[in-house]
Amino acid sequence: MSSETLNPRVPFSFELYPPRSESSQAALHETVRRLAAAGPDFISVTYGAGGSTGGRSLEVLRFIREHTDVEPLAHITCVGNTYAGAAALIREFLDAGILSFLALRGDPPAGHDEPFLGDLESAAQLVQLIDRVQAERSPYEEAPVPGLPGAATVGARRKATVAVAAFPNGHPRSTHRWQDIDALLAKQAAGASSAITQLFFHSDDYLSFVEKARAEGVTIPILPGIMPIVSPVRLARVLELTGETLPSELSIALDVEPTPEGRHEIGVEWAARLAREVVAGGAPGIHLYAFNQHHTVLTVLEEAGVLPAARMR
Ligand code: FAD
Repeated sequence: MSSETLNPRVPFSFELYPPRSESSQAALHETVRRLAAAGPDFISVTYGAGGSTGGRSLEVLRFIREHTDVEPLAHITCVGNTYAGAAALIREFLDAGILSFLALRGDPPAGHDEPFLGDLESAAQLVQLIDRVQAERSPYEEAPVPGLPGAATVGARRKATVAVAAFPNGHPRSTHRWQDIDALLAKQAAGASSAITQLFFHSDDYLSFVEKARAEGVTIPILPGIMPIVSPVRLARVLELTGETLPSELSIALDVEPTPEGRHEIGVEWAARLAREVVAGGAPGIHLYAFNQHHTVLTVLEEAGVLPAARMR
């Protein structure tokens, strides 16, 4: 048996967010180049709910499309937007040649306790709207779609693919574990072709969620979202943002370790172990939340055996 058969390639991908300032833009471009050199299936770029980072998201997506061979995947949100506004946004991304989306409802703006929903109430409706917007584009608009990475595909028409979010430990607003499965079923029925999960800290969170989802009829691939947590500050921040439960073992290890290097190693090893376990349990790939830094996530992939060790970074 060749080592290739023993160790088939595990698909992987990264998530970035738009730069917050002009000065971080150059650093992000370098990160994109380094991540792209590792050969991911796609790089996704987050989108601020209510359009707060819209233009900057598109700039990063354009950079990925124009300067690498990697598929750019655009997060888009619909919370607080009108139907017409959301349709215009989708058109803008399609016009820029973006053909992969992660359709999200998005969170209501800070200060709004109750969902500030706008015209679209769920991510499933946004999935449908992406399909409708594509369908209404005239053949003359469709023909020159320049969006496919690589010259060989220029001129071809490709239908956009739409991924959605999934929540192995439940969305903070859901009231029953089945609500999350039902929300995913609705997104699948609306045309989503894959899902990416919220971060989780134990492989069983992901594996048992996938098992339940399959039993209820979810057939689309569910990509595990893994975030290397390399400091207590980052841990506190992501728990606040996601509503996940504190992983006490990781929290204690990060708290007692005195050096940043040691904390980095702990976070990388935790994420790499998660990656190994979910792949062994049948995950279709690994999606890494990169925090706009290449070094940590590439090290996770090496430690997990997904990339060869000691690559030049
Ligand atoms: P939906 O699928 O519409 O609903 C999510 C969940 O909410 C459902 O599972 C359901 O359990 C529950 N729910 C739905 N409707 C109700 C209701 N009426 N009452 C109670 N519960 C309900 N946010 C951003 O702003 N920008 C991003 O770029 C971004 N990227 C993300 C990437 C990933 C991989 C993930 C997992 C999340 C991301 N988010 C992002 C966060 C996301 O927008 C929020 O979690 C949002 O609250 C839900 O979006 P959704 O698309 O999952 O919504």
